Amino acid sequence: MFQSTYFCERMPEIVEKVRLPKVKAGSLPVMESFYTIQGEGANTGLACYFIRLGGCDVGCHWCDVKESWDESRHPHVSIKKLLDLVKSSPATAVVVTGGEPCMYDLTELTASLKDAGLQTFLETSGSYEITGDWDWICVSPKKFIAPLKSSLKKADELKTIIFNKSDFQWAENNASDVKPDCRLYLQPEWDKREQMTKLIVEYVKENPRWRISLQTHKYIDIP
Ligand code: SF4
Repeated sequence: MFQSTYFCERMPEIVEKVRLPKVKAGSLPVMESFYTIQGEGANTGLACYFIRLGGCDVGCHWCDVKESWDESRHPHVSIKKLLDLVKSSPATAVVVTGGEPCMYDLTELTASLKDAGLQTFLETSGSYEITGDWDWICVSPKKFIAPLKSSLKKADELKTIIFNKSDFQWAENNASDVKPDCRLYLQPEWDKREQMTKLIVEYVKENPRWRISLQTHKYIDIP
């Protein structure tokens, strides 16, 4: 197990290494899919169908979906089947998350969703090149593998998880690379919410271009 203090103090990677997505024609590894309410970020409160892809190599020690990491543990589901699952719900918007969904080329998936008249929302760490046609891109950068500048430029929403005080500077560093109308959010890491929420409140009051994001789905105990 990693020593969390090491990661808390570790500075982000400076050298950018372009990481390209894998092409998985016709299907993708899926950990789970479900219809619920988006609990965090700019689209909080909106009913969305979630597709959680399996596979992630970013390695956040506080990750709450570590079971997603190993791609081989998750069955490949055809894009047609995924579309049928979405259409069996009243959802008008689909959140593609992970894991790290941008490990895969998402062009085919998003084209199918858009053809069906659905809105496409992405949740990514930004550590891979973003592919696909998206109505909303949320980049939530992680220190363990820094986001690509090209991913930050595409972000409609920058959501930084605050685990310790040094994460405020990490948030500012990434905010300098997003487009001017990108929404900026600070979200307490769930297990540190007692300590970090107070700091975020003070930070946002001092720096009002930022907003608070809370994991409201966890407070109301829904997926
Ligand atoms: Fe977990 Fe997301 Fe970090 Fe991957 S990027 S380890 S899924 S929190």
